[in-house]
Amino acid sequence: MLEKITVAGVSVDTRHWIGGKRVASGATFTDSSPIDGSAIGEIARGGPAEAEAAVAAARAAFPAWAATPRAERARILHAIADGVEKRIEELAVVETTDNGALLRSHRRGVMPRVAHNFRFFADWLLTLGHEDFETRGHTNHVSWDPAGPCVLITPWNAPLMLATWKVAPALAAGDTVVLKPAEWSPLTASLLADIAAEAGLPAGVLNVVQGYGSEIGDTLTSHPDVRRISFTGSVPTAKRIAASAAANLTPLSLELGGKSPLLVFADADLDLAVDLAVEQYDNAGQVCLAATRILVEESVAEEFTRRFADKARALTQGDPRDEATDIGPNIHPRQLEKIDGFVRRAVEAGARAVVGGERGDGQFYAPTLLTDVAQDSEIVQEEVFGPVLTLQTFADEDEAVRLANDTRFGLAATLATGDPERAERVTARLVAGTVWVNCFFVRDLQAPFGGSRQSGVGREGGTWSFDFYCDLKNTVTAPNGWSHS
Ligand code: NAD
Repeated sequence: MLEKITVAGVSVDTRHWIGGKRVASGATFTDSSPIDGSAIGEIARGGPAEAEAAVAAARAAFPAWAATPRAERARILHAIADGVEKRIEELAVVETTDNGALLRSHRRGVMPRVAHNFRFFADWLLTLGHEDFETRGHTNHVSWDPAGPCVLITPWNAPLMLATWKVAPALAAGDTVVLKPAEWSPLTASLLADIAAEAGLPAGVLNVVQGYGSEIGDTLTSHPDVRRISFTGSVPTAKRIAASAAANLTPLSLELGGKSPLLVFADADLDLAVDLAVEQYDNAGQVCLAATRILVEESVAEEFTRRFADKARALTQGDPRDEATDIGPNIHPRQLEKIDGFVRRAVEAGARAVVGGERGDGQFYAPTLLTDVAQDSEIVQEEVFGPVLTLQTFADEDEAVRLANDTRFGLAATLATGDPERAERVTARLVAGTVWVNCFFVRDLQAPFGGSRQSGVGREGGTWSFDFYCDLKNTVTAPNGWSHS
């Protein structure tokens, strides 16, 4: 019978969490570990019935949660953060077993950030003002009203981190939630349900349904009782969700893929530029923000490539639980096939693998750098989502900007330059939701985060998250209040 499994010594309930109860119909799917391909366990496989039940639970819980004083909602969010902090080690080992990302990053970076996500939105909630202003003696009073049940759909590359970017602001705003984690990494969402319940979050405020998006997704995203849909994942899935949400014109937040550039100018600190480039292999290249297109000014391209190759070849690939490992496995055999297909087709089209270019043992793909790639080729235009970077050169700033902007994405861009004026000029011309200058991956939750073009719709973070998860209301009151006199 489906119930609890033990993952790296941690007990994880594999059933859905709906209305404060563990639920399963008997249908399951197998979750496996990218570390060695072994089966972790059977997970509840939700379909339309579970989607309906979860939305009904979120709807039933909404009025009371929306009416809960902000200070009390904030207190419970802080209690969830406390629970996460108490279980950092457990969350980290379960996440690494499930998605293969580095244990040291989960321990020291990711899971503390998960707790921070709750604290940040709890505190922000308390500062969220009501805005008042006057129009010809009338008072305008703007309020942020909770919107209702929200469906939150998340990917596998940073499962709990990305889920809590959505769950925390939605709960803070007074909304109730149905969370659908990715089928390749379902486990930490279940642990989050336990932590939230222990923290005193009322039944039905957070619901977690498991299963394949293709089986449970449509019922969630076309549901008339759902007031917001927030999705992080791929462009094709986003298009399906947008079509499904159109039935009720449900507002959407979409955080999608990218093909971000790293622009290396001749005036850059070349060691820093190389470090920034090598950093793009983090999480085996399975990072939406990764600057997978390296664009280098011609005069330093040879030297850059030499130094990059030396550094990339020195990376340690292996078990993500080892402290010394730099690059872990890729998530799934299907993802590995996809990566390999991209590289093989690129090489057939004339690309040269300066570094890597082939599969390793098990679910590993060698960190790869491809040169001699055409701007309009598949490998330059499409997101690979693996440890595969391309390198192109440019003659001047104009060409750098033209190449950088010439894809259908616009998630992020990174610049390496020693010239602040150049940084300002180039940044102004780049199409990207985030630009990093001589740094990478620094993200403050106050900042807007998201993509332009097909990298997304809307922004997450600080006030942008609250605006999305709330119905903004303007109340206009007559100059003399309640009577004609
Ligand atoms: P995916 O689109 O395959 O799946 C994402 C989620 O959508 C999963 O939970 C899946 O079950 C669900 N889903 C699938 N079909 C659905 C449907 N018809 N209806 C509803 N839900 C459905 O993406 P993935 O492979 O899990 O994640 C990788 C992608 O996510 C990459 O493109 C990456 O760039 C992107 N990503 C973006 C960001 C960002 O913040 N911009 C962050 C991380 C990942």
